[in-house]
Amino acid sequence: AKQAGRNGVRFFDQSMQDSISARVRLESELRLALERDEFELYYQAQVDQRGRIVGAEALVRWNHPNGGCVPPSRFIPLAEETGLILALGGWVLERACAQWKEWQRLPGTRGLTVAVNVSARQFHQPDFCERVAAAVARHGVAPGVLKLELTEGMLLESMERTIATMHRLKRIGVRLSLDDFGTGYSSLQYLKRLPLDQLKIDQSFVRDLVGDGNDQAIVLTIIAMARSLKLEVIAEGVETEAQRALLAKLGCRRYQGYLFGRPVPASELMRAVADGPPG
Ligand code: C2E
Ligand code: CA
Ligand code: CA
Ligand code: CA
Repeated sequence: AKQAGRNGVRFFDQSMQDSISARVRLESELRLALERDEFELYYQAQVDQRGRIVGAEALVRWNHPNGGCVPPSRFIPLAEETGLILALGGWVLERACAQWKEWQRLPGTRGLTVAVNVSARQFHQPDFCERVAAAVARHGVAPGVLKLELTEGMLLESMERTIATMHRLKRIGVRLSLDDFGTGYSSLQYLKRLPLDQLKIDQSFVRDLVGDGNDQAIVLTIIAMARSLKLEVIAEGVETEAQRALLAKLGCRRYQGYLFGRPVPASELMRAVADGPPG
């Protein structure tokens, strides 16, 4: 605490110091974690109306050497700030494509899609499309299989450049999904310019859907928007049968959430694919 101000006011108090050193520690741990291969991809099922698994979202997990699994909310924001997300995101993309390739040897995996989360910084790298194309080619990923989940915030940077990047990704055979949809401020006017394939209804609208008329109205609007733009809709955070039934009634035909399965290691997802829907 060397920064004492003119009036003896300290700019940093002890708790700020502590949280800064905690961040510095976390940052160097993150760097090491990449080198030591401590990250793992979990996969969460995405199902159709009949409960069949049609795809999976890859969600990164950090198996910390001190034991325990660190959730992405603890390290993704820091990885974004420090730029480590570029290396981590590259690893995620590579790993997800390799996983899809491995899955192809198992029965019942044809047509299974794999969704990967892409952070803003990663998307805006000048060679992002080349990286995606290289991963797709290396693992022989079929067209339409890899889905990139983008968020509204990242699309605001430079509209023309963003749209150009999206078109290039589409030409590689990649599908594009807009994650956390409804939490941003995309107008229909804006959305129609984007070469998207899917809208993902944010879980905040699903949570209280059954009892909340406003959320029902929002979800209905999103579904109508998706229909007029010819986009698929998927709802995330589906935890109860009542939510699923209402979403179905409102016209949503793809679901993801604890009702169908938590994010699990790749082998466990394959067991669920082999077992098929319950009943
Ligand atoms: P997201 O992309 O919106 O992912 C959905 C989150 O909701 C996941 O949290 C998932 O485990 C959780 N979830 C799924 N079903 C349910 C449910 O029924 N109820 C509830 N309450 N939650 C559910 P997770 O795995 O902790 O990931 C959090 C966020 O971290 C993700 O949000 C995403 O923004 C980010 N993230 C995860 N993996 C990656 C990655 O590989 N790259 C990047 N850039 N971001 C990632
Ligand atoms: Ca996502
Ligand atoms: Ca989401
Ligand atoms: Ca989210």
